[in-house]
Amino acid sequence: MLPNVHAVRVIGAQAYLLVERDEITLVDAGHVGSGRMLRAYLTRIGRSVEHITRIVCTHGHPDHIGGVHEVAAWSGAEIYLHPADSERLRISFREVIANFSPGPIVALLTRAPAHAQPLEDGDELPVLGGLRVIHTPGHTPGSVCLYSPTHRFVLVGDMLQRVRGRVTLPNQFFSDDMTLARRSIARLAELDAETILFSHYPPYRADVRETLRALVS
Ligand SMILES: [Zn+2]
Ligand SMILES: [Zn+2]
Repeated sequence: MLPNVHAVRVIGAQAYLLVERDEITLVDAGHVGSGRMLRAYLTRIGRSVEHITRIVCTHGHPDHIGGVHEVAAWSGAEIYLHPADSERLRISFREVIANFSPGPIVALLTRAPAHAQPLEDGDELPVLGGLRVIHTPGHTPGSVCLYSPTHRFVLVGDMLQRVRGRVTLPNQFFSDDMTLARRSIARLAELDAETILFSHYPPYRADVRETLRALVS
């Protein structure tokens, strides 16, 4: 794969370790209990969980942030999540009853990370020569994608999926707003990327711009 970008199989998803000489950034952490798998992987590459300084959440679904609590407790890493998903995770039972749909129900059952730092559209994280945060609502209100202009990859979380190998729109059942999702994907289609990194599928390497334009046209 890409140098310094490690996809790690965790419970229910793939996490990414962005490995640099003196620090490691973790993107997503699988379901609760995934921490030991990340720890084992880091040992295999001669690093340790204490090297993780930052945990970036692509969104607030339990298969992405479940393992964040334990890894943050072990490493003391700072957690980053878009405020719209932090807000969503504070949903009350009453609000769920008023809007009985998968997004709110899942949020009610998911534990929010304590003290998450807000991520905003356009933020640039000091990772692998600069990692740009793109706010891409649609799957959840606070979904973000991470774009590396240097390495020309975009890490999309659940904003895109692959069905029989083809890149497709996010899962309709678990997504909040497909109109918004299409608009977000149209923004991704403007990036100069050659690799898409997913949370649940193998990477896609091709003409990303063409593929995404065709998807939302
Ligand atoms: Zn999701
Ligand atoms: Zn997911």
